Amino acid sequence: MAEDSSFAIDRALRQELEGWRRAGLSHLPMPPRKRSAASPASASAKPATTRTPPSSNSFSRTTSPPASRTTSRPTTAPAASTTHALPVVSEPLPPSPHAAGSRDDREWRLNQLRQRVAACTRCQELASARTQTVFGVGNPEARFLFIGEAPGADEDAQGEPFVGAAGQLLNKIITACGLKREDIYICNILRCRPPGNRKPLPEEAANCREYLDGQIAIIDPDFIVCWGATAAQNLMGTEESIGRLRGRTFQHGRATVFCTYHPSYLLRNPAAKKDVWEDMKLFLKQAGLPVPA
Ligand code: SF4
Repeated sequence: MAEDSSFAIDRALRQELEGWRRAGLSHLPMPPRKRSAASPASASAKPATTRTPPSSNSFSRTTSPPASRTTSRPTTAPAASTTHALPVVSEPLPPSPHAAGSRDDREWRLNQLRQRVAACTRCQELASARTQTVFGVGNPEARFLFIGEAPGADEDAQGEPFVGAAGQLLNKIITACGLKREDIYICNILRCRPPGNRKPLPEEAANCREYLDGQIAIIDPDFIVCWGATAAQNLMGTEESIGRLRGRTFQHGRATVFCTYHPSYLLRNPAAKKDVWEDMKLFLKQAGLPVPA
């Protein structure tokens, strides 16, 4: 009898994990690490001294990267996951009808996730005040994933991230880097606008984390840029200031992570633009792209 129960539990767990894999998650997050007095807050944000090779799971790319991309990926040891525990676990997405890792497959899975986000009411205050959810936009095969904080008034009205004044500035930065917005996938820590554009609450970020993790797993970027402290701290589970995080690289799963100031901050503090440009040059260099003088 005991053996039958054990077998049933084991089978249920395997089915659950398989459902998550089909839903687009390539890993399960670890709970936040406890920090001791001897362990600084920065301990959970690991410098990316190494790179992981592309994973062999169903989410890895199946096509060769364009010639403009760097094709060599240094072989390195995997970094520890820095994600938060998921407080809410949805039902797995249905299996994709497309070839795993293809553009159609990624678009299909992102659309499934988008529909789930559109109906989400986990954060009651945000869900009751939003005009619409702001899921994310861009190339589902993007090599670069940009993460911001949360939708503002313009994003809430248009349903797209980074479309207000900060978005216009981000577009200029993207152009200055020799990139196009279509080269990138852009999303936020939150998919609903916080009232008065306040910072996301920790529980709201935790509620929305499942969707961010799903987008990261589906897009499977080589590089992630965190725009602002909220994006960087939530992605990597650190309390270090953005001033200390910028200018360094970190590892999140397979992706190398860069952190820099949010364009909204640059609108208020134009002097920090030179710091962002230094961060962008580091990003371009590591991505193997031309670095403007
Ligand atoms: S912010 Fe995210 S978790 Fe919260 S209601 Fe919106 S979609 Fe759901």
